[in-house]
Amino acid sequence: MNETTLTGHKLQGKRRRPKTVEGLRVCAAKECTTRLSRYNRKGTCHLHTPVKFPRVRGHDVRTAEA
Ligand SMILES: [Zn+2]
Repeated sequence: MNETTLTGHKLQGKRRRPKTVEGLRVCAAKECTTRLSRYNRKGTCHLHTPVKFPRVRGHDVRTAEA
C-alpha cells in the first residue's frame, strides 16, 4: 500500500517553562513603586526601561545617547 498521507509527530522532549524571577521586586527608578512581573528580567518597569530599537534590515537605528 502506498502511503501518501502526511502525518504529524508529537513533540518530543519537555516543554520549557518561561524564565521567571522569584520574589517581589519593584522598579529600580526613584519614586517608582511599580511591581515588576516575574517575567520581567530587567530591574525597571516598562516606563523606566530605556527604549531599545532592534536592528532593522541591517541598519543600526539606535537613538543617539544623550
Ligand atoms: Zn518604574
